[in-house]
Amino acid sequence: MKRWIMAVRRDYYEILGVDRNAGPDEIKKAFRKLAKEHHPDRNHQDGSAERFKEVNEAYEVLSDEGKRDAYDRFGHAGTQSQDFGGFGGFGFSGFGDIFDAFFGASADSGPSARPGSDIQTRVTLSFEEAALGCEKEITVNRIERCDRCHGSRSEPGSESTRCSDCDGRGRVQRVQQSLFGKFANIITCPSCNGEGRIVKNPCIQCRGSGKEQKTHSLKVNIPAGIDNGNAIRLSGEGNVGDRGAPSGHLYITAQVMEHPYFYRNGFDINYELKINFAQAALGCEAMVPTLFGEEKLKIPRGTQSGTQFKLKNKGIKRLQRSGQGDQLVHLTVVTPEKLNKEQKRLFEELEKSFSSGKKKKA
Ligand SMILES: [Zn+2]
Ligand SMILES: [Zn+2]
Repeated sequence: MKRWIMAVRRDYYEILGVDRNAGPDEIKKAFRKLAKEHHPDRNHQDGSAERFKEVNEAYEVLSDEGKRDAYDRFGHAGTQSQDFGGFGGFGFSGFGDIFDAFFGASADSGPSARPGSDIQTRVTLSFEEAALGCEKEITVNRIERCDRCHGSRSEPGSESTRCSDCDGRGRVQRVQQSLFGKFANIITCPSCNGEGRIVKNPCIQCRGSGKEQKTHSLKVNIPAGIDNGNAIRLSGEGNVGDRGAPSGHLYITAQVMEHPYFYRNGFDINYELKINFAQAALGCEAMVPTLFGEEKLKIPRGTQSGTQFKLKNKGIKRLQRSGQGDQLVHLTVVTPEKLNKEQKRLFEELEKSFSSGKKKKA
């Protein structure tokens, strides 16, 4: 990044002859050496008093962590504003200009064309849509190029003229005298607002802005495996940029609805299978729903509640990778809460049978 401060003062690091990353010891060492060299008592050469002053000033700032930090960020004005804290507002108005100068480009490079800003939207997906991927139509409000003037800002048939104040560059140089010294700032041309051209007859549709707010629909491929909170970026689908600069991006954040009986954990799916005592004791075959249809699961006899079965590769496709998660089936043996007469009789018989079995063993 180019710095557009024409500093009247020399850079403190340069004065001390140290690197910008120099540590405190290195700075101290450099200062001592230079202070000795230029001390007015020892050195009577022309300019050595000024040099000594300069070295002291540089050391004062670079040896103080807070001042050094301010200097690194704002240059000379950063440290001076602390010294002249009483001037308050003055220091701050100066800061704005300095920031402009820091981030501005060269005055010769033509009008700056700002890229379009990004836009964000959300898409609501069912569990299956997120897991398997889908195509969705998304509608967004965004700034597009005006289709009447095609971004020229002038009424069709009328021409804009080159701004004479900035010679079509969109920027002008301003030299400012401030308490901190002279600054040459590159500012946006106030006559043409940085456009470089003056519109005589503004487009009636966009009122001369060259842009307009539009509702735009687009089809989006939602990749399989996307999860709640994941975002998709569609490059160049955001707001249009200035004067041919690239458009911003469109970020679409997925909101995935809960499933009545599947629960996602990464790329695995959890599912609770409920069976009764008899099924658990005798073993059974159960039909388990998966994303890909029903799967037959064999429960061996004597299976305890809490046992977990794995249906390999029946989970969710790994997002932007190969492979697939599994479906984990958690078995719950349900204790009956209500029994009819017959069931009650059978359980009582079963109970007697279990008890006598125990006695026999004992
Ligand atoms: Zn227009
Ligand atoms: Zn201008």
